Amino acid sequence: MSLRLYNTLSRTKEDFAPLDPKNVRMYVCGPTVYDYAHIGNARPAIVFDVLFRLLRHLYGAGHVTYVRNITDVDDKINARAAERGISIRELTEETWRIYNDDVSALGCLPPSVTPRATEHIPEMIAMIETLIAGGHAYAAEGHVLFDVSSKADYGKLARRSLDDMIAGARVDVAPYKKGAMDFVLWKPSETGTPGWDSPWGRGRPGWHIECSAMAGKYLGETFDIHGGGIDLVFPHHENEVAQSECAHHGHPLARVWMHNGFLNVEGEKMSKSLGNFVTIREHLPANDAFGGRSWDGVTLRLAMLRSHYRQPIDWTVSGLVQAETILKRWKGVFRIVAVPRDSNESPPDAFLSALRDDLNIPRAVAEMHALADKGRHGDFDAAKGLYQAGKLLGINWDDVLSPQSASEVAQAVAALGDEDGSIAAAIAARKEARKAKNFAEADRIRDELLAQGIILKDGPDGTTWEIKR
Ligand code: AMP
Ligand code: ZN
Repeated sequence: MSLRLYNTLSRTKEDFAPLDPKNVRMYVCGPTVYDYAHIGNARPAIVFDVLFRLLRHLYGAGHVTYVRNITDVDDKINARAAERGISIRELTEETWRIYNDDVSALGCLPPSVTPRATEHIPEMIAMIETLIAGGHAYAAEGHVLFDVSSKADYGKLARRSLDDMIAGARVDVAPYKKGAMDFVLWKPSETGTPGWDSPWGRGRPGWHIECSAMAGKYLGETFDIHGGGIDLVFPHHENEVAQSECAHHGHPLARVWMHNGFLNVEGEKMSKSLGNFVTIREHLPANDAFGGRSWDGVTLRLAMLRSHYRQPIDWTVSGLVQAETILKRWKGVFRIVAVPRDSNESPPDAFLSALRDDLNIPRAVAEMHALADKGRHGDFDAAKGLYQAGKLLGINWDDVLSPQSASEVAQAVAALGDEDGSIAAAIAARKEARKAKNFAEADRIRDELLAQGIILKDGPDGTTWEIKR
């Protein structure tokens, strides 16, 4: 019953063994709250939600701590608040509320802790002081910078050498920097922008130190999994590693680093200038901004999960329509077979082993198709397995109706129909067998269908079928 995860640090799939199975710890970089989250931002939220659910399933719901931070201090926040003429707190509160509504519409559970950067300034200052005392950081002109040359293995996560980074860098080399790649831990705040008193004057933290300080506070020096989008590997995660290891006697920050691939829209990089930038909110009911119509959160979720989390995903209207069709088909199964809603049974092994193989959700979805095929033919265990599998993926089945009456089942069967034509083909083969007076074969076909839960009815107009109840 192992779990294997691809670790960006080793560039291989590894067996996962938590430091403490009673408290599996995961940190994922969260949103900078200044504007609506776009559909690309939904990807890490959904992918790591599935991992959170899987870990809860494997280790017990009370034995997983998932921290996702809120970056609520940032130049973009200052600029947007000024533009809109509202206070920074108003802007960050409003944006955080919208983010929560959006990701919950996508079926994501709330993480265990959602720390705000602005509520952890003392922890950041303390960490910066430790780095200065250890010779890993220096203060200059109201700034504090991390001295990259003080860490021999800087670049190990991104697998870049310092020399290559310097050669390829287009970072502006401020006069107070000792080295071109040195990055900001603390910077001065202009009057009228958020700032906190510190040993280096009134200022604010850099982005990277926020995550190191909050991860350390809630998860300890070393924890199990650190996640985010692939764009964060460098510099953000590399810098988190550098800061945390230097502040924590060289202890590693996270044992497994996981990164989701990027999302493109209709084959192109999403950007405001290309006019294909689309928020989560614009997909949801009442907005009709993607493909000229609205989509259920669960459709968006399934569409997102049908690509492997490490591969790029092409976000298209046709992909959403496909996800919608699949959901309709799956839900149709529960109109034929009543499944218990409250059972906590485990999903089928084949489904789970796909997830345990580095979250192979496309394979898990293929297993669900196979379950749906059987369920459609009246297989109770398969229908129940489909229900449990969907639940583990965070698919909301709330609006699924149970069959109420024989006529409702008949309607559902008619709606689903004999999609692959296999029942019609079996009926035709049976008719041929009877014509040839091969009654043994005709009965064998009838019994085979019966074993799948399909009853044949011979009438004056030919043979019809229905699902056994
Ligand atoms: P940001 O607000 O840009 O820091 O992004 C928040 C999260 O969304 C990070 O984990 C990013 O890596 C991720 N992210 C941003 N853009 C995309 C995209 N187009 N596709 C997938 N993930 C993204
Ligand atoms: Zn981070």
